[in-house]
Amino acid sequence: MPSKLMTLVLATHNPGKLAELRAMLRDLPVDVVSVTDVVPAFAPPVEDGETFEANAYKKARAVAEATQMVTLADDSGLVVDALGGRPGVRSARFAREGATDAENNAALLEALTEVDEAQRTARFRCVIALVDPYADLDKPIFAEGRCEGVIASGPRGESGFGYDPLFVVTGLDRTYAELDHDEKNKLSHRGKAVAALFPHVEALVKARIDEAQRALSGRAEV
Ligand code: IMP
Repeated sequence: MPSKLMTLVLATHNPGKLAELRAMLRDLPVDVVSVTDVVPAFAPPVEDGETFEANAYKKARAVAEATQMVTLADDSGLVVDALGGRPGVRSARFAREGATDAENNAALLEALTEVDEAQRTARFRCVIALVDPYADLDKPIFAEGRCEGVIASGPRGESGFGYDPLFVVTGLDRTYAELDHDEKNKLSHRGKAVAALFPHVEALVKARIDEAQRALSGRAEV
């Protein structure tokens, strides 16, 4: 049952990501639900955009249209300089369509065999799109987070998912997979994108409160 000032729908079917985003948003006066809580049969759109922004917006807009609720969607991936920005928006399917994390990691190491350490610079990027169907479906709010690093020559660490064991965080000399949840959330691309989104969500909540107060005072005057 929603108990806070506003409900945000997350355009994700992934329970891990839902838990992660819910934890990051816990200090805001908003309830967070998944699209499947609102529209169980929702079929996500194909993520065929050429940018993180395009994919995040596509997902958020589709869910906002289906639920008529304020919606947040993210798209993220690994950008490797020596590979001209790949795998980028194709991070989940770098090795092949439907690839496992192990296959993608092997493909990344293979693609970088001839590249020495100094040239293995990379960053994780996360773009969040927020769509408010009561304002304008065509005008998403974007927030972005980045985390700089280098690609290791072999996997290190046990936690996390995806390319975590290969991504050494700049200034830390540890991979994402060598950090615990809280450590990763503080410095990760997703954590920083959520932090950048905070003021926008706070402004939306404030606008809702102002609107409700105006409606109430209008009623009192009748
Ligand atoms: P998504 O857009 O968050 O679903 O991410 C797409 C792909 O990028 C994932 O399937 C992973 O391969 C990669 N990726 C995104 N975020 C992370 C992360 O925090 N660690 C490792 N890999 C990630």
